[in-house]
Amino acid sequence: MRRLVPVSFDKVHIEDGFWGERLRVNRENTLPIQYTRCKATGVIDAFRLEWKSGDAKTPHVYWDSDAAKWIEAASYSLATHPDARLQRKVDDLVDLIASAQQEDGYLNCYFTTVAPEKRWSNLRQEHELYCAGHLIEAAVAHYEVTRSRTLLDVVCRYADYIDSVFGRRRGQQRGYPGHAEIELALVKLYRVTGRSNYLDLARYFIDERGRRPHYFDKEARQRGEAPAHNIGEVYDYYQAHLPVREQKTAEGHAVRVCYLYAGMADIAAETGDKELLAACRSVWNNIVKKRMYIHGGIGSNRFRERFTIDYDLPNEEAYAETCAAVGLVFFAHRMLQIEPDRRYSDVIERALYNGIISGASLDGKRFFYDNYLASFPGTHRFTGQRDPVRQNWFDTACCPPNLARLLASLGQYVYSQTADSVFVHLFVNGETGIWIGGRDVRLVQTTQYPWNENVRIDVSPASPATFTVAVRIPGWCEDARVTVNGEAVATTSGLSRGYLKLRRRWKKGDRIQLRLCMPVERVESHPSVRHNCGRIALQRGPVVYCLEQKDNGKDLHDVLLPRQTKLAMQAGSASLLKGIPVIVGKAFRRNAGEWKEDLYRTTRSGLRPCRIKAIPYFMWANRGEGEMLVWIREVDESVAPRRGNPRA
Ligand code: ZN
Repeated sequence: MRRLVPVSFDKVHIEDGFWGERLRVNRENTLPIQYTRCKATGVIDAFRLEWKSGDAKTPHVYWDSDAAKWIEAASYSLATHPDARLQRKVDDLVDLIASAQQEDGYLNCYFTTVAPEKRWSNLRQEHELYCAGHLIEAAVAHYEVTRSRTLLDVVCRYADYIDSVFGRRRGQQRGYPGHAEIELALVKLYRVTGRSNYLDLARYFIDERGRRPHYFDKEARQRGEAPAHNIGEVYDYYQAHLPVREQKTAEGHAVRVCYLYAGMADIAAETGDKELLAACRSVWNNIVKKRMYIHGGIGSNRFRERFTIDYDLPNEEAYAETCAAVGLVFFAHRMLQIEPDRRYSDVIERALYNGIISGASLDGKRFFYDNYLASFPGTHRFTGQRDPVRQNWFDTACCPPNLARLLASLGQYVYSQTADSVFVHLFVNGETGIWIGGRDVRLVQTTQYPWNENVRIDVSPASPATFTVAVRIPGWCEDARVTVNGEAVATTSGLSRGYLKLRRRWKKGDRIQLRLCMPVERVESHPSVRHNCGRIALQRGPVVYCLEQKDNGKDLHDVLLPRQTKLAMQAGSASLLKGIPVIVGKAFRRNAGEWKEDLYRTTRSGLRPCRIKAIPYFMWANRGEGEMLVWIREVDESVAPRRGNPRA
């Protein structure tokens, strides 16, 4: 059912430009720091299985996944940028993990040392199968990059053992994980080994979910607990409220939703299962039409890291976990290969440029778990939210390595291909070589996107050949101009699901040029998003902008942006913003000076003019703590006074 195949990340050379810089930071700063922090917190040494009661650092149920995600990220990085020191670290950790495998194939630090009697007793809560999934993903990445079978053989033994424990055969447990992850991992393992039992096991976990009587109740009773002990006392948190084929909306923990649906899309792609694909489409539509933030973040509720109801998208209390936006990209990317349509690649782009890379500081050393859309220093101490300053690490450190593995494998999101076509999904400076119609075709993208609206794509087949280059025209772009060898191509009539299909006899030196006009846009929310009524967000190209206190002073919530204000681009001058386009314009604020000590009053406030400067959202919180605001109050010029006449 999969119509497209992604061009592998190691065949896509990303050079300089926007992503070249982010990938360099990921490689040089983020990966080494994550290893150091995993080492310091005990995550890595836990695989020595030396923990004893009374030791200071007790392994956590999801520690294994942190180490696994680091191996996965580091492996991707090694494929594009060989590094002997990093290679040694990866190999040593792989050997250490292999040494922790038990006789029967089982492999989990926490349940081997801390609670051996509790193995497989709480699938709902304890992340055992989730950790197994991440180990499998790490092993597949490590094998594909190094061709070493060490970790791959380990996880095959582990997966075989899991396959013997779970299923519908006599004596097996009819369980499934509370946190999806192993499903998509097993599909990867199937693809790399060709062993169909892994695909069958993934399908079993997916189809068993949500059946009645609930397995989570059964295992709770076996532990001597009442089923009502279930966290939140609801099944939808785990996407177990209905069999997955009957699910229509995105419910529960946002990362789990995305991992589960990515796995379902994988199964649909492998088996042609139309019912699963229909469920994927339905949940996708619910997310992107009703439950996704403008920065691509999802899961708005911080109490359960979960989806809530349609249009419930609070800004200051946003959750929007970095992992959830990463998971949304995983889900979108799989759907995109099944049905090439920019509704998926637009979301990939939206999340990448905004709510995902906001998860790390510009130097790649500090991280956000939550990605707020408004922030007011001080309030977080009382709300249970995390501080709006980036952290070195977290007790639950899922986000930093998730971001690292996504960035290290970013190349795979840029292109896909069929036997006689290549799809250009993202505009990324660099080049790739693709085999089309029996010949090598080089594609070179030259661009300063997203800061600049021009993209040049040089198409060079080894010998002239007829094939299609399908270029995504982004949904945000209302004025796209395309030429091939200088001749204009119609972009409105020729679009197929958002892709401009250029089919011709290509020869060396052919050149596609895109101009994706990027005026500053004011974006409105659907009227039912109560948090954004009367507010707009600023966006240019795929990049969402925000106001920060550093540039605009305090009380950003009181900035009034007249509808008629002309907004202009200007090159940022301060060191962090050097050369980055910022948005500037005239606005107003109420005259706080008139208020003296009143908290309330009936006299209407005068307004004073001010200038605003908006910076790309992902760059916020890199210049100290302060207020931040994405959704800005918009007023009509008629209610705002002219300059010098504040009471008019
Ligand atoms: Zn996370």
